[in-house]
Amino acid sequence: MSKFMNPEPTDLIELSFVIPAKDEQDTLEPLALQILSVVGSMGNNYKVKIIFVDDGSTDESWSIMENLADKHQGQIFAIRLRRNFGKAVALEAGFRKSTGNIIFTMDADLQDDPAEIPRFIEALDSGLDLVSGWKKRRHDPASKTLPSRLFNKVTAWTSGVQLHDFNCGYKAYRRKVIESVRLYGELHRYIPVLAHDVGFRIGEIEVQHHPRKHGTSKYGLERYVRGLLDLITVLATTRWLHKPGHLFGGLGVLAGLIGGMTLTYLTTLWFLDIGPIGNRPLLLLGVMLCILSVQLISFGVIGEFFIRIKNPREGTNLITEIAGTDDEAANSTPDAK
Ligand code: UDP
Ligand code: MG
Repeated sequence: MSKFMNPEPTDLIELSFVIPAKDEQDTLEPLALQILSVVGSMGNNYKVKIIFVDDGSTDESWSIMENLADKHQGQIFAIRLRRNFGKAVALEAGFRKSTGNIIFTMDADLQDDPAEIPRFIEALDSGLDLVSGWKKRRHDPASKTLPSRLFNKVTAWTSGVQLHDFNCGYKAYRRKVIESVRLYGELHRYIPVLAHDVGFRIGEIEVQHHPRKHGTSKYGLERYVRGLLDLITVLATTRWLHKPGHLFGGLGVLAGLIGGMTLTYLTTLWFLDIGPIGNRPLLLLGVMLCILSVQLISFGVIGEFFIRIKNPREGTNLITEIAGTDDEAANSTPDAK
């Protein structure tokens, strides 16, 4: 049983809160105070560490973070990035600074409610490694919620991770999940897909979502276009990472079959002397599909060469448990292994 599931009174469980912020001067302090108060009310077993990451703010965010870190030493920390790098990079910087057994991510704009923290912990306690918030009733305009619904459906369908709300910034992770994923670009919304790929258990809870009272949203519709492009990257580096030949080869075989059937049909017409085939668009299509097929299959083969050269999951620990001791392994004969 994990340390978390049966806490000893003396055994402190540290909750780290990683909070990326770009121009959120009005909400940083109330958010920090609410988190401290909610965790404080959860009993003596919990220790809190709030890590604000200033992602190139141009307002007063950094000086407010500095003041908070000064006032609440040991509980609040602040990191300032040299410029605006985007949320995924800010999260990664915060994760590196985190020391907690459980790590939360929250948006800095108070749209996520700290009162939900105990519910996330309950969900982790039920045996999950990653709990994602689901803003079932969103307080955002329809221009945001409709594309978001489509985006989530496509992501869930293609990735096999059944979440309703991949974009929700409110999530809780066991430390080992954070240690197993690497974030860059805008891949933060795919942490559940990346975590699922290495075998972690993922779930979601409904969370309240408040309207934004201060500041402005940093994202518009373009996030979904970029998000879908990122989805291709994520699928390519998870599902097909070990078998590029199946992805490209599969498409190549499909193109080859259609092209081959087209050309067979035209050849039959030619032999039966039914009519001229040289000027038919179908001939061009058939020839193009056959060439495409050879190219795609070759891509797949080249991809397979690459993964033989370099192990793509180097550095990721895929093992969850080990039985037996190293001494026994050392004593065993090579034949027995
Ligand atoms: N954010 C960030 N860097 C960016 C953009 C956003 O750190 O380049 C932070 C932002 O300050 C907020 C969170 O990411 O804490 C979510 O952003 P936002 O509230 O604008 O997204 P929305 O709620 O509109 O989806
Ligand atoms: Mg927001």
